[in-house]
Amino acid sequence: MPPDGTTVSNLARRMNVARRSAHQTVHALLGMGLLEQIPNPASARGRIIVMTAEGRRVHRLARTVAAMFKGWAPELVALVADSDIPPIFRPLYGLPIGHRWDHIPGVTLIGDAAHLAPPDGEGANWALFDAGRLGNAIAEQPENIDAAIRAYETALFPRNIDTATAAAAYYPEFTPH
Ligand SMILES: Cc1cc2nc3c(=O)[nH]c(=O)nc-3n(C[C@H](O)[C@H](O)[C@H](O)COP(=O)(O)OP(=O)(O)OC[C@H]3O[C@@H](n4cnc5c(N)ncnc54)[C@H](O)[C@@H]3O)c2cc1C
Repeated sequence: MPPDGTTVSNLARRMNVARRSAHQTVHALLGMGLLEQIPNPASARGRIIVMTAEGRRVHRLARTVAAMFKGWAPELVALVADSDIPPIFRPLYGLPIGHRWDHIPGVTLIGDAAHLAPPDGEGANWALFDAGRLGNAIAEQPENIDAAIRAYETALFPRNIDTATAAAAYYPEFTPH
């Protein structure tokens, strides 16, 4: 984004996307307060988009993040450092170690709903594992679904302690330092 702003059409050209796509992105960033629209000094009717102070702050953060990837392939670092669109910092949530719930007949949880995973490459595996365990429990006693769910949950809750403990050790990796 040039310091004195640009039009959506120019932005679309620089992003190499259709104007409509650029417009959707700009609309989202306007809503987040990272960009703002001001009158275009070159056109009485037109408007240009410029970064807000918050947008500039986030962009500076992007440079800081990119600097953490020193030694990585330049093409990958450029995805962060040279992006026309500032990265969006999203919160990562976790569940407390020992998270469980009171049994509700006929209902249970699997995957992230049962034990929210950090992005450590395990979450999808755990979700599939839960599905397999629940499926096995039901197959073992299809005539009593609620007993099957109880059996699944009895094995799940101690396992949740292990996954949450592993996750807790992982979260500091995502904390700015
Ligand atoms: C940044 C990041 C990177 C990750 N990287 C990896 C990785 O490399 N490898 C890995 O294994 N795991 C990774 N994970 C974790 C992994 O994405 C999750 O653990 C996994 O997707 C959990 O699967 P799930 O089916 O339980 O939940 P989800 O994948 O979240 O699926 C839940 C679905 O339910 C839908 N939904 C929500 N509410 C409703 C509703 N009311 N009605 C209808 N639908 C609804 C949602 O839209 C969603 O599609 C990562 C997670 C993050 C955040």
